[in-house]
Amino acid sequence: RAKSAGGNRFELADPEADARAITRHGLTTALPTALDRGEFFIEYQPLVHLGDGSVRGAEALVRWLHPQHGVLGPDRFIPLAEHTGLIVPLGRWVMEQSVRQAREWRERYGDGNEGRPLRINVNLSPCQLTHPGLVQDTVDILERTGVSPDALCLEVTESALIGADDDLLKPLRRLAEMGVDIALDDFGTGYSNLANLRRLPVSVLKLDRSFTQGMQQFPADPVDLKIVEGIVALAHSLDLAVTVEGVETGAQAEQLRILGCDTAQGWYYARPGPPDRLHELALADATS
Ligand code: C2E
Ligand code: MG
Ligand code: MG
Ligand code: MG
Repeated sequence: RAKSAGGNRFELADPEADARAITRHGLTTALPTALDRGEFFIEYQPLVHLGDGSVRGAEALVRWLHPQHGVLGPDRFIPLAEHTGLIVPLGRWVMEQSVRQAREWRERYGDGNEGRPLRINVNLSPCQLTHPGLVQDTVDILERTGVSPDALCLEVTESALIGADDDLLKPLRRLAEMGVDIALDDFGTGYSNLANLRRLPVSVLKLDRSFTQGMQQFPADPVDLKIVEGIVALAHSLDLAVTVEGVETGAQAEQLRILGCDTAQGWYYARPGPPDRLHELALADATS
């Protein structure tokens, strides 16, 4: 390798890095028009109540069907979309599609789920939080679709809210006052001050997948158990519901249920999939 070859600090080409750069470049040039070309689609992953196993809603997860590279996950293009500003129209599109989907589920499936129509979770990027149109866009989408605000939950990562000042929290407060739920996503990864939670207009904590991974062995690591138990107790004392991400086995689900978590999401229940799949799962659950 040229790097270790001595005094001159230039590097020989690294073919792998080149390939990554080319791919990246290809994505960057194709991304701005991908929305107009209709190349994005949304998969839905069910949110399941740990107490009774019923499907309570779903999280919308965006994908890009790239003409050359095939299906790309959000980790491949969301950072680029944030960088280029496409995230604002893309995020609006995801919200509108998802809320329309929730209305369709409600029309087809109604209140069959013991009077609890399916709800929809939509991820918000930090760029959307600082965009001045967020509240109005959300109101417009809910009005256009005729879906009530309490059917919608917006997920914001813990790291996006670390050190958030009042200006950043204002739009979230307005949305929360309207009845939209705000969830703190990937909770436990951002080193936020727990006392700070009180200040945030959130009603749901989404415990990061790393905690769920700690429940993989049986019996689980006692320290992991204590930590999750503590977080759940704190969340409940602040009237927050706890959702857990990345549940892959029945043993994890059972452990997390015992620890008092409210809702779960993960491959154990279902991978993210097309909207009809969620409808099938919810129906199967209602008739079983
Ligand atoms: P997230 O919001 O934390 O979403 C959960 C991620 O965990 C999803 O990855 C989901 O497919 C994955 N997952 C679910 N269950 C399991 C499991 O049991 N095991 C494992 N290993 N993984 C599981 P995905 O779809 O690749 O999304 C990654 C991230 O991209 C999301 O993390 C979210 O932060 C972001 N994202 C997705 N859609 C959107 C969007 O519409 N807007 C914005 N701003 N971000 C989005
Ligand atoms: Mg999320
Ligand atoms: Mg998450
Ligand atoms: Mg996560």
